[in-house]
Amino acid sequence: MALRNILTQEEPALYKTCRPVTEFNARLHQLLDDMAETLEKANGVGLAAPQVGVLRRAVLVIETNVAEDEDEYVIELINPEILEADGEQDGPEGCLSVPGEYGLVKRPMHVKVRAQDRYGKWFEVEGEGLTARCFCHEIDHLNGIVFTSKCERMLTEEELQSGEY
Ligand code: ZN
Repeated sequence: MALRNILTQEEPALYKTCRPVTEFNARLHQLLDDMAETLEKANGVGLAAPQVGVLRRAVLVIETNVAEDEDEYVIELINPEILEADGEQDGPEGCLSVPGEYGLVKRPMHVKVRAQDRYGKWFEVEGEGLTARCFCHEIDHLNGIVFTSKCERMLTEEELQSGEY
């Protein structure tokens, strides 16, 4: 595995629509493994292929809603699409491509997503709260959308630290 360089918001690649993944081969597996290592190192909760300069529809989301005696785990989603979204949450959101900045973004509270795994097999997965936010945020990346364009407003350091916004 190898760390990949995370592109930051001035890079044009982050604003392009990504193409579907069609080959579920060793190259894709290498990309996903590298992305997992990069995500862990950066301490994030999600990462999309375009953030490492690959304009293909592949994302990683960390499922953080786990029982206390369970470990968080990485969900790999290839060619993901949101099947259902309901509820609403309004809260701070950040992005590894926009380091140190957070803004208020409205997202559904619950989503159901359909995607392929690294071998091309279709599956469905649901996310709640932060995980739902993360699914939406990462899938946005595949459509060239960075969260700052959806923000009601950016948060100041004081607001973030106090948790009052
Ligand atoms: Zn992001």
